[in-house]
Amino acid sequence: MTARISAKIIDGKAFAADLRARLAARVPSFVEQAGRAPGLAVVLVGEDPASQVYVRSKHKATLEAGMQSFEHRLPAETSQQDLLDLVAALNADDNVDGILVQLPLPDHIDDKAVLAAIDPAKDVDGFHVVNAGRLAVGEEALVPCTPLGSLMLLQDVLGDLSGLHAVVIGRSNIVGKPMAQLLLQQSCTVTIAHSRTKDLPAIVRLADIVVAAVGRAEMVRGDWIKPGATVIDVGINRVPGAEPGKTKLVGDCAYDECAAVAGAITPVPGGVGPMTIACLLRNTLVAAHRRTGLSDPEGL
Ligand code: NDP
Repeated sequence: MTARISAKIIDGKAFAADLRARLAARVPSFVEQAGRAPGLAVVLVGEDPASQVYVRSKHKATLEAGMQSFEHRLPAETSQQDLLDLVAALNADDNVDGILVQLPLPDHIDDKAVLAAIDPAKDVDGFHVVNAGRLAVGEEALVPCTPLGSLMLLQDVLGDLSGLHAVVIGRSNIVGKPMAQLLLQQSCTVTIAHSRTKDLPAIVRLADIVVAAVGRAEMVRGDWIKPGATVIDVGINRVPGAEPGKTKLVGDCAYDECAAVAGAITPVPGGVGPMTIACLLRNTLVAAHRRTGLSDPEGL
């Protein structure tokens, strides 16, 4: 028997659609002031099927927001130098406000060297060490999209986060670490847990906010959750579905169990996932304003 869901279901899809509409509404005034639309360049090397899907949806969402989308699809055998030359050309192109190099890159290319070559002012993924450092010391930065979107959902549900105990499970540079930095900036008490953490369930039970960014299907169980806590499930895991040969997506949290105890929870899919692209567009619009000497658009 599955437990009754009592938590508020956080509708990331609706929040992301609203954010994208608010972004699109601000594009015309940028165009009026800058004489051009904000531009996002996405670079895909190789033919990884999941990456192709992501790049297609980014292209579509960028155009829908009234921005320019520059797609660069390169063959898998592209040399690192050719990719670095393309990044240099995009850095120099004034019509390009944001550059995103889709990961993973083929094995013969060093991700770090490529990410380091992106102009930090155009680093809309927020992965450049300059942006990571600025976030860490509390200076104006471009912040990684998934944690930024997760923070927006948390603030929408809880308002002021100060004083709350947040447990972030995962310490990657893409999700866990920037998430922890953002929550610290909001004056949460932050615990970062990872694969070496001892007695993880006991630590998660202390949390007012749980952010799970692990990549292990349904690892966080209902009895780990403090009653009323807010659960943000970043995980995307493909597992066998009910019908033979079919698969389904699940998060890092056992949804039914956690939703029976939590105060609010993001579903998978439809929670954090849609926020990532919306925040990519948000970062592109913000980068466009900053590069043009305009103040940041308000309320984003
Ligand atoms: P990584 O694999 O880079 O990091 C996973 C983290 O989880 C590591 O810090 C690891 O610890 C920790 N971990 C692994 N096993 C355990 C365990 N048993 N107990 C506690 N911690 C553990 O993944 P990402 O951060 O890139 O992504 C995390 C998840 O989020 C994935 O499912 C990914 O698909 C999803 N994701 C979703 C996005 C979205 O748009 N919604 C965007 C990006 C990611 P250690 O460091 O010790 O190895």
